[in-house]
Amino acid sequence: MKIENNPMIIAGPCSAESREQVLNTAKGLAGMDIAYFRAGIWKPRTKPGAFEGVGTTGLPWLVEVKSEYGMKTCTEVANARHVEDALTAGIDMLWVGARTTTNPFQVQELAESLAGVEVPVAIKNPTHPDLALWIGAFERMDRAGVKHLMAIHRGFAVHGQKKYRNAPLWQIPIDFRNRLPHISMINDPSHICGRRDLLAGVSQMAMDLAFDGLMVETHPDPDQAWTDAAQQLTPADFKSMVEALVVRTAKDGSEADGLTALRAEINMIDDALIELFARRMGVSALIGQHKKDQGMTILQNSRWSELLQRNIDLGVAQGIDAEFTSDVFKSVHQASIAIQKRVMQEGAQGEAGKQ
Ligand code: PEP
Ligand code: MN
Repeated sequence: MKIENNPMIIAGPCSAESREQVLNTAKGLAGMDIAYFRAGIWKPRTKPGAFEGVGTTGLPWLVEVKSEYGMKTCTEVANARHVEDALTAGIDMLWVGARTTTNPFQVQELAESLAGVEVPVAIKNPTHPDLALWIGAFERMDRAGVKHLMAIHRGFAVHGQKKYRNAPLWQIPIDFRNRLPHISMINDPSHICGRRDLLAGVSQMAMDLAFDGLMVETHPDPDQAWTDAAQQLTPADFKSMVEALVVRTAKDGSEADGLTALRAEINMIDDALIELFARRMGVSALIGQHKKDQGMTILQNSRWSELLQRNIDLGVAQGIDAEFTSDVFKSVHQASIAIQKRVMQEGAQGEAGKQ
């Protein structure tokens, strides 16, 4: 399924909490060109004991959003029962959550329960970076006869990733699009960012990469939201964010997109490098303190030669030039010595101060 009007906007709270909260959100969004109003009725939670959604009680609230504000509605489904309940209530679009996409048994069950339905079904990427598994879910739906499919890119759990809740790994949705160009690709900046200050940048990136739409979590009082509080926007802030987006009109699906994605990848890797350097400097400062306490010299020549050789060998094993590794670590070592000196001097000044 390919969306022609760009961008398609899906907005609404992470979870339906109460009738009032759902209708208030819809009221705030009324007047914007919202393709679907979203709200999670059944919530897949990482840990037990957290709020797991209001369940079928919330479905009539979505029906009211439609009759009151004229917005089509959508919710997440994870099993055949959810599908039946949502379709019976008259929900207009369904999505498969990231945790569900990881499980072929569940996707198969869903596909069979969705066979022949007219409502669009969007499939989020699996939580981990596995393009084949994501595409496999589309194949299961397709074989079962689900006619209108869309993809939602919500980022990937990557160990050690700090800036984003889920690393965008833009190359994966781009590869997806090259494999299945007839499927619309929606970006979900909310679950990528995990915090609202990053939403505008990720949304703009999605527009620059010619994504077909955005799904953004909005809540009348984000800080009080029962789920995903840090990443939700008020409808008013959401409106300003959308108005500030620059949307490219030419959609050539091209090398330019590939280059933008690769540059974003480089930026992410640089972020990670800087974070690692900062952590390394922190450890250097601790070593400086230790050496000071033990009355040791800063430079331990044997340790340095051993470290340099070890890193050169590691680099060579991965095809990195020995000279490059040597240059990088000489700089890193200089910075490390400077930090250790500072730690020792601070200590010495402290001692002097006491006298
Ligand atoms: C959601 O959309 O609220 C949600 C649970 O998303 P995901 O499946 O991407 O984690
Ligand atoms: Mn959420």
